[in-house]
Amino acid sequence: MSTLELRTIPATHRLSNHPSLLHWIANENISLSELTKEIQSYLHELRQRISAGERMEYNLEEMVEEIKGRLIRQQKRNLRTVINATGIILHTNLGRAVLAKSAVEHIVTVASRYSNLEYHIENGSRGSRHDHIEQLIKEITGAEAAMVVNNNAAAVFLILRELAMGKEVVVSRGQLVEIGGSFRISEIMEESGCILREVGTTNKTHLKDYEKAINERTGLLLKVHTSNFRTIGFTKSVTLSELVALGKKHRIPVYEDLGSGVLYDLRRYGIGDEPLIQEVIAQGADLVSFSGDKLLGGPQAGIIAGRKEWVERLKKNQLARILRVDKLTLSALESTLHLYKNEKLLLTELPTMRDICSPLHIIKERAIQLQTMIDSHKWKVTVREDVTEVGGGTLPEVKLPTWTVAIQSDHLPAHVAERKMRMGDPAIIARISKDELIFDLRTIQEDELSCVAEAINRLFT
Ligand SMILES: *Cc1c(COP(=O)(O)O)cnc(C)c1O
Repeated sequence: MSTLELRTIPATHRLSNHPSLLHWIANENISLSELTKEIQSYLHELRQRISAGERMEYNLEEMVEEIKGRLIRQQKRNLRTVINATGIILHTNLGRAVLAKSAVEHIVTVASRYSNLEYHIENGSRGSRHDHIEQLIKEITGAEAAMVVNNNAAAVFLILRELAMGKEVVVSRGQLVEIGGSFRISEIMEESGCILREVGTTNKTHLKDYEKAINERTGLLLKVHTSNFRTIGFTKSVTLSELVALGKKHRIPVYEDLGSGVLYDLRRYGIGDEPLIQEVIAQGADLVSFSGDKLLGGPQAGIIAGRKEWVERLKKNQLARILRVDKLTLSALESTLHLYKNEKLLLTELPTMRDICSPLHIIKERAIQLQTMIDSHKWKVTVREDVTEVGGGTLPEVKLPTWTVAIQSDHLPAHVAERKMRMGDPAIIARISKDELIFDLRTIQEDELSCVAEAINRLFT
């Protein structure tokens, strides 16, 4: 081995013709031009470092290994899976709902070949992409008609635009919410060319407040589900039924942005007081909209359901073309909705519902199992009961009981351990509390336990 100097840096072709590298890239499906580019950039870096006065030993084999390492890092995809140890089931930063296996398989099947996305097989003619799941949504929600757009924010925008552009939209001041730091009802309203007509006060809005606001310019009565907060104390809001009656009297459509919306009654499990979408439709709302990837447990999408006359108008709006979903989303959504036809299947196969309704003793067993897998010579391990939340701006008042495993060591601060877990492969996202690193077993699956335990046991090395 000798010290590397500018004039002894190997030529690009010496590395790009290196037999072991050539053999290796063939196995890794890396092209010769990718290899050459990487070698050039590597040699360029070496020249700069030497010019800056750095001394390096020269060994061709080590250079080859370094280039392989750099190419491997480049092949890695940026978007990848992580282990969610936060306990928050619909974690917006971690991709919200985890899809059911059947939904993923449906995506793969449909995407791998041509499909009948916009083709009517029976008639041999052009079909509509809306047809594939409209019937299913109608069946499950009881609505007359339905359609799907890119997300619920898009649904709100499309509805405001088609039903109330240039007109006034009456909404309670207590429902002018901001969701996820970027979606504000008041701003969406402005963007869509509607005039916001706020009524009532932050904590109290009465029916007469709505009635007084109605005039010949009124286009829509809007109710927004206050998904991510609760006003408590002296509060009064108008029920949907009251609004529907008012809308009928003045011939003005009533639309409720349900935000999350649930199709399965979580109140049966004592979880929250979220009204069922089916009930909201039955109460006579002209339109409702909700997210596909919140409590529904499906792909990102905005589902619109309600009266046929309005939905037909929405489908014809030019914006519907801009906001339309692709075949991947439709496949996942169709398979997700199918699970709602069978309660037993829903609670075992749909990750979102399975994790929300997961019995506490199962979570406790998982926590104890993880505890036994962690090296107790290195870590002080504590298993304890705790609370978590559903997340994704849903069910803000619900505290879900859960079990956690906390690890602590005098030799490795929690923030260092937290970072190491996060930077590992796969990344494991846990939280710090005091000087402990906490793993919440509500969102760690059985088949992830050994991976988490191994990562913990490796933390000291
Ligand atoms: C989450 C939410 C939205 C936005 O839905 P996305 O599917 O995230 O676009 C709109 N309105 C309410 C009330 C919500 O809770």
